[in-house]
Amino acid sequence: MSQLQEARHHRCAKVQAMDLLPVFLNLRGRLTLVVGGGAVAARKTDLLLKAHARVRVVAPRLHPKLARLREAGQIEHQAVEFAPIHFDDVQFAIAATDQPEVNQAVATIGAARNIFVNVVDDGGASSAIMPAIVDRSPLILAIGTAGQSPTLARRVRAQIEAMLPERLGDLAAFAGAARERVRRALPQLDRRRRFWDQLFSGRVAGEVLAGKTREAEAQLDEQLRIAATDHVAARGEVYLIGAGPGDPDLLTLRALQLLQQSDVVLYDRLVSAAVLERVRRDAQLIDVGKQSGSHRVTQQRIHALMVEYAARGLRVARLKGGDPFIFGRGGEEIDLLRRSNIPVTVVPGVTAALGAAAAACLPLTQRGLSPSVTFVTATGEGAADLDWRALAAPLQTVVFYMGVAQLPRIVEHLRAQGAPGDRPVAIVERATLPGQRVIAGSLNTINELAQRARLIAPALLIVGEVASRAVHSAQLLQTHLSSGVDKT
Ligand code: SAH
Repeated sequence: MSQLQEARHHRCAKVQAMDLLPVFLNLRGRLTLVVGGGAVAARKTDLLLKAHARVRVVAPRLHPKLARLREAGQIEHQAVEFAPIHFDDVQFAIAATDQPEVNQAVATIGAARNIFVNVVDDGGASSAIMPAIVDRSPLILAIGTAGQSPTLARRVRAQIEAMLPERLGDLAAFAGAARERVRRALPQLDRRRRFWDQLFSGRVAGEVLAGKTREAEAQLDEQLRIAATDHVAARGEVYLIGAGPGDPDLLTLRALQLLQQSDVVLYDRLVSAAVLERVRRDAQLIDVGKQSGSHRVTQQRIHALMVEYAARGLRVARLKGGDPFIFGRGGEEIDLLRRSNIPVTVVPGVTAALGAAAAACLPLTQRGLSPSVTFVTATGEGAADLDWRALAAPLQTVVFYMGVAQLPRIVEHLRAQGAPGDRPVAIVERATLPGQRVIAGSLNTINELAQRARLIAPALLIVGEVASRAVHSAQLLQTHLSSGVDKT
């Protein structure tokens, strides 16, 4: 399976794992049933009324809030124990009593009558689960954990609440009101999408979020006029994005934003499937790191693809493992794009050395131990040109980006230039990815340790005193043979 297929497959697998379908119910004017008269029932009733549902509350006694609603004529109240007849004409029900058998009865009768029932705090008995809600109406986010952990859902809600501007709902409403106008002015879908993207990241959105609706209106008119009269094909652009070492949480916010607005994504072998998950769903994903036979897509071909797509007016993300400017050929790519007059934005990424150091809890520099750090690539013929004497010197950290097969040669070169056999080294395999491993040893022992561990790519070698600090964390699956460290 190619990496692209794998990535797509991964997406499908996720979708299949979704047991519940999130939907927004239109309950306006429809009859709903709340069984229970306590504080929880009152909260649920409030929600249903907010959605303009009619609410029948069945409970012998009512919480003062519910009593007020009854007095105001906003709910229908049956002051009796729950009975099946209360389901008559009902389309959706919530069981919110503190008696499990009553809640269960509501669920059972609801099921028999094909009516969706939410049982408060009992996902197993519910045929409908109420999500945690972030309300920026008309923008509404519903967060659910399939009843597994309402607490987790509430925590996620709190995080999202903090992230979203207070007036986001106003922005959604503003966009909704302008939608028809924009559609008429820009009939082509791709131009319209571009217009909205620019609008949401630009001045108009800023004004709406600042509460200056009138200024935003004027701006919108102006921008729409420009967009509609600009007949030159929209110019494409390229985003040269560092994808980090693998864990998608290590993407920068800007990388995420740009991946969400890219039309085409050209990605490397080192870009993890989890990172590809964060790409806009309808973007075209192109694997340019794939080895077909023994041939990779050549660098020229990658250049040609970038230029070709950008020339069609598309937004092209060139997504690379780690940082684009650390052993990533990013320099060549921007030179070419400049020559072709294609605008390019570079977004840095967490380079593998930094990901590995953090993952192994190993400081790359440390007072007294190592005042400097060098990043070296030891792949291909380049290794012969390195200043091995300088790399073998003490009191420094050297990080080798390497093919695993190069390890014996690196050790040999360093030893030949006088590096002692007990110099600490650590290998971090698949840093920040699932199954990450840290192997710690010395120049003397590392070849054997690596062999025994059956090291696979990608992996980094860290050489220097700091490597002795490679972490002994219980979370890391670690092959650490301190007894194997030769102190001679
Ligand atoms: N631009 C990339 C490096 C590309 S060179 C960056 O900044 O990280 C490829 C080498 O990077 C691999 O051979 C390996 O040595 C290293 N590498 C990349 N991802 C890695 C990872 N998750 N764990 C360990 N090493 C990694």
